[in-house]
Amino acid sequence: MIDFSNVSKTYPNGTKALNNCNIHIDRGEFVFIVGSSGAGKSTFLKMIMREEVPSEGKIVVDGVELNKLKASKIPYYRRKLGIVFQDFRLIPNRTVYDNVAFAMHVIGAKNKDISRRVAYALSLVGLSVKAKCYPHELSGGEQQRVALARALVNHADIIVADEPTGNIDPEMSRDIVNLLNHINANNNTTVIMVTHEVDLVKQYNKRIITIKNGTVISDTAHPEIVVEDIPERVETAPTAYYEAPLEDDDIERFIQNYGKNTEESVNTEESAASEKSESSDSI
Ligand code: ADP
Repeated sequence: MIDFSNVSKTYPNGTKALNNCNIHIDRGEFVFIVGSSGAGKSTFLKMIMREEVPSEGKIVVDGVELNKLKASKIPYYRRKLGIVFQDFRLIPNRTVYDNVAFAMHVIGAKNKDISRRVAYALSLVGLSVKAKCYPHELSGGEQQRVALARALVNHADIIVADEPTGNIDPEMSRDIVNLLNHINANNNTTVIMVTHEVDLVKQYNKRIITIKNGTVISDTAHPEIVVEDIPERVETAPTAYYEAPLEDDDIERFIQNYGKNTEESVNTEESAASEKSESSDSI
């Protein structure tokens, strides 16, 4: 499903963020990506999201060769992905319901499908009762559950979670990983989660890929083998790319960029969206 072949990434300022990485992730896998700050984890995720392209090597996701993807097709490709960030990225002046619904509006889904799917996604993350609340009325863990509902409301094939538990307390962190686990187990959704949290990783019997200085130094399903290589939890500042807090408009634009295909007609978008939503309610 996700294939990195000999992928290297050098940023324009000369920083080599990834160095000859070969990573294969099958459909339905749950993978933790660990490594210290600056190791290259976010660069790896940004390549999957097609926000960055490799300087060398080839990336194929679900049959799509990302190096060759036309710019106009990128938002359509991104519909495969549900993205969850450390800083939640909810739109502050919209309710919980509208934050989740927005991701469906963007792809041109029909209103009746939106109300059904949003209700389902919110119930899955246990937040139906908070549908009318605004983000600032929720705890960090709850906000992250809204972000998770938004990530999965469009039937994402792959959930990409970048330090999703970085801003929430340990108890809530387990809830978030348990939810990701549930989505993974019940829907065969591929989950890729970047984290620093050794204790959290140890609690789950999952594949762990450790990146150090842009290189995969370990790839194992046995946490006990790699624990020494996983740095202790460190409070990380968001990477340079995410440094500036996003304004409301930026978040809206960002989400639009994860669904709206500039080349498709509205009709095509609607039929694609309703085709997907006609399947039974699952993620
Ligand atoms: P991690 O997510 O593991 O903290 P990153 O992938 O963010 O690591 O960064 C890997 C390296 O690439 C770091 O040295 C970082 O400073 C650098 N880097 C990340 N983004 C950029 C960018 N847009 N321009 C230049 N260097 C960058």
